[in-house]
Amino acid sequence: MLTYTYIEQGKFALTEKPKPTLQNDTDAIVKVTLASICTSDLHIKHGSVPRAVPGITVGHEMVGIVEEVGPAVTSVKVGDRVTVNVETFCGECFFCKKGFVNNCTDKHGGWALGCRIDGGQAEYVRVPYADQGLNKIPDTVTECTGPAKKSL
Ligand SMILES: [Zn+2]
Ligand SMILES: [Zn+2]
Repeated sequence: MLTYTYIEQGKFALTEKPKPTLQNDTDAIVKVTLASICTSDLHIKHGSVPRAVPGITVGHEMVGIVEEVGPAVTSVKVGDRVTVNVETFCGECFFCKKGFVNNCTDKHGGWALGCRIDGGQAEYVRVPYADQGLNKIPDTVTECTGPAKKSL
């Protein structure tokens, strides 16, 4: 699949990578339907995010359709339309319980997607802790990519 990848400081490029697969029981694979470009992506490009790992797919703001879920995922199912949270968080540590999920102490916690692990400027993205990181999009919310429709 095509991914937009952080190659090295100052350089992003479209690269081919294998479609992601489930790595943990709490993972989900999401088919990305829309993704945004964020100023934080530019911070990675400019070398201002030391934790960013060269070779990762960028993108941490996206929506899509659940393609596959690990056996421990209960909050979403295959076919659900979802938003993907920028933060990866376990939901169980001290900080998560207080709502400070960006400080999650899990080794994958915090801003992982599109920074330390492959993100969503790609055809598919693996989302760790899918029960925390995915939220269903109501049926009344469309993915309007053009001018607003009057029928809404
Ligand atoms: Zn952002
Ligand atoms: Zn946590």
